[in-house]
Amino acid sequence: MDISPPLLLVWWAVMGLFVGSFLNAAIYRLPREDLSVSRPVRSICPNCKKQLAWFENIPLVSWLVQRGRCRGCAVSISWRYPLVEALTSLLWLWIAWESGVEHWDLILARVLVISGLIVATFVDFELFEIPDEVSIGGMVIAPVVSFLVPSLHTHSRLALELSSGGEVDRTGALLASLIGVAVGYGVLWTVATVAERLYGREAMGLGDVKLLGAAGGFVGPVGALVTLVLASFVGAIVGVLNIARLVCFLRRRVRARRSSRTWSDTLAAARCAGQMLPFGPYLALGTALALVYWNHLRVWF
Ligand SMILES: [Zn+2]
Repeated sequence: MDISPPLLLVWWAVMGLFVGSFLNAAIYRLPREDLSVSRPVRSICPNCKKQLAWFENIPLVSWLVQRGRCRGCAVSISWRYPLVEALTSLLWLWIAWESGVEHWDLILARVLVISGLIVATFVDFELFEIPDEVSIGGMVIAPVVSFLVPSLHTHSRLALELSSGGEVDRTGALLASLIGVAVGYGVLWTVATVAERLYGREAMGLGDVKLLGAAGGFVGPVGALVTLVLASFVGAIVGVLNIARLVCFLRRRVRARRSSRTWSDTLAAARCAGQMLPFGPYLALGTALALVYWNHLRVWF
């Protein structure tokens, strides 16, 4: 049966919308000990515990129709829900587009990775942790997925050299994935350990280390290094912007209260507050770019 490519793209986008709805549940439930992804089966309002009917659970639509409020108790529902749904849909569409709709196995492998990264990102933003289900889970399934879908590593020179033929085969992809996990985990573990020695306190969580391990399993060892470079670069820019924002905020308060706080006090306070930035979201961004644009990034690096 021949389905036209535009229709297939729409299909992936709609699937992304529904999976995004599931990711919302994972983001809420994974870090909470008393809940699991499969229990309770039906979604409930965290405030009034009302079970949601099917029409209250339609991605994007329900939130818009209900204007971001629960129909039972009118408590406002976080804008994170429609955001995650829309973002998942767009990223799935992007991956289907970039991978070519005929490569459904590659699309499936890549949307799996992206979905895990979305969960890691939003949990890290909220709670400064990355669920083991995503990071350790990723390290475990990456070699399996690489074996099943060797085209994940098509553009990896290492995977090619470890393959017996002229193109990446299952063995090459599997080995590149295993080396990728070891390199991703090892590099960030070393950075974290050295930083801890230097600063005398934990500078980076083990969650980030495990996440880069998982990323390496999908983008290979060099891809893991590129992911780390991209993440550090974007993270540093955001960090500086964040400190600048805090400085502006603190100075406005100083002026409003006519306090005697000096500029150096303000800078010190802003730097202290600015250190509370999660790194997981930037690792996720770097991984997504390495996953889809490896062929272009390889030329740059
Ligand atoms: Zn409610």
